[in-house]
Amino acid sequence: MGRPFTSVLIANRGEIAVRIERACLELGLRPVLVASEADAAGCTRPGAGGPLAIGPSAPGRSYLNQAAILLAARVTGAEAVHPGYGFLSENADFADAVEAAGLAFVGPPASAIRIMGDKIAAKRAMMAAGVPCVPGPGEPLPEDAEAVRAIAEEIGYPVIVKAAGGGGGRGMRVVRESAEVADAIAITREEARRAFGKPELYMEKFLEHPRHVEFQVLCDIHGNAVWVGHRDCSVQRRHQKVVEEAPAPGIAPDLAERIGVRCAQACRQIGYRGVGTFEFLYENGEFYFIEMNTRLQVEHPVTEMTAGVDLVHEQLRAAQGAVLETERFTGAARGHAFECRINAEDPTTFVASPGRITAVRFPSGPGIRVDTHVSAGYRVSPYYDSLIAKLIVHAPTREDAIRRMQVALSETCIEGIATNLPLHARIFSDPDFVRGGVDIHHLEKRLREEP
Ligand code: ADP
Repeated sequence: MGRPFTSVLIANRGEIAVRIERACLELGLRPVLVASEADAAGCTRPGAGGPLAIGPSAPGRSYLNQAAILLAARVTGAEAVHPGYGFLSENADFADAVEAAGLAFVGPPASAIRIMGDKIAAKRAMMAAGVPCVPGPGEPLPEDAEAVRAIAEEIGYPVIVKAAGGGGGRGMRVVRESAEVADAIAITREEARRAFGKPELYMEKFLEHPRHVEFQVLCDIHGNAVWVGHRDCSVQRRHQKVVEEAPAPGIAPDLAERIGVRCAQACRQIGYRGVGTFEFLYENGEFYFIEMNTRLQVEHPVTEMTAGVDLVHEQLRAAQGAVLETERFTGAARGHAFECRINAEDPTTFVASPGRITAVRFPSGPGIRVDTHVSAGYRVSPYYDSLIAKLIVHAPTREDAIRRMQVALSETCIEGIATNLPLHARIFSDPDFVRGGVDIHHLEKRLREEP
């Protein structure tokens, strides 16, 4: 249940910790920052009280260490915990532990995280709420290979075998003909058992050329739920998003409305709270649910810019039990926004490029937003994700926003380490991307054609 609080421990690092810290200060809440050894050593922010040390650099011993985080909350008197994204943000046991310690968890109830953490349970919940899913039964596959082949015939090849407990693009295998079924099941089941400790598999139609389109939702604890816009995140490499935009181009407003309303309905049915994202594959004018993320997402700013909402404020208010002012949200976008994920990595080999940033210049001006934790002198650690900044632009039309991003990218300069800025410049001058609506394989195809 929601409960009032005046201080928030931010159980995360990097740009998202800065983002959440700002939101807390704006709402008059006291932010409590924590840091691993590597991050404490790299801290360059002047004026800050300094983060509390929670352990060694390896994430397993700091940002994933539940006991250390709860102890940090106790010694600092924090009354709530915001998990950010990644790390413990989708760990239902952690959400339970936070509440059991008498603190507010800034996220959905553990029960909702549990449902969405099991892809079969999630698919069933979505079917029950009338959210369109990828064709295929929302049930675990039987052991018997003959019975599995019958299911595949029924769906029609190609199909994809997926682990119920899978994540991060792992535990999936495409099957194109009946001779491949038995091996695919055996290998994926073994992988699932080892990697996720959960052998259940399920099967669905494999879509060949989908786009990735997702819907942002917002809920309070009083049964109010709204959708606040959609995003296109089809520009990906190895299932990692590289560029995102809002709204997703070329989606009929009445179709978006229909899907968004169903997503909000699903939230009411599972007792959801706070912010969440429904991810869909979109192909030939149809939406197919693939998963729900029960947390704030990296790409949330493009929705903030186009929906005129502060999602972190709303998330904190929902955790406090506030009533959501649903009439403020229509799902309609104002203008267009793009986000470039700037990573510390080689732009052609994609190998991580940790090290000291010697000089940095970010763009500024109308419609420009930079979410980052780095500045000159900052040492990018090899221990964590390579995201060092998010460059976000907002403009009245998609065309204006593309030009604005091209100029903003040309103004951005990061020295001392390699970054993927040249890749972003390429993407924003790619005629297919500029036209809009590329599928999830487009970037990798381009990179194969001209490395
Ligand atoms: P994860 O939790 O590992 O991210 P998802 O279910 O979100 O797993 O799927 C990850 C990616 O795998 C999708 O973004 C898409 O590229 C691909 N994928 C998943 N299901 C299908 C499908 N039915 N057809 C085609 N591609 C799929």
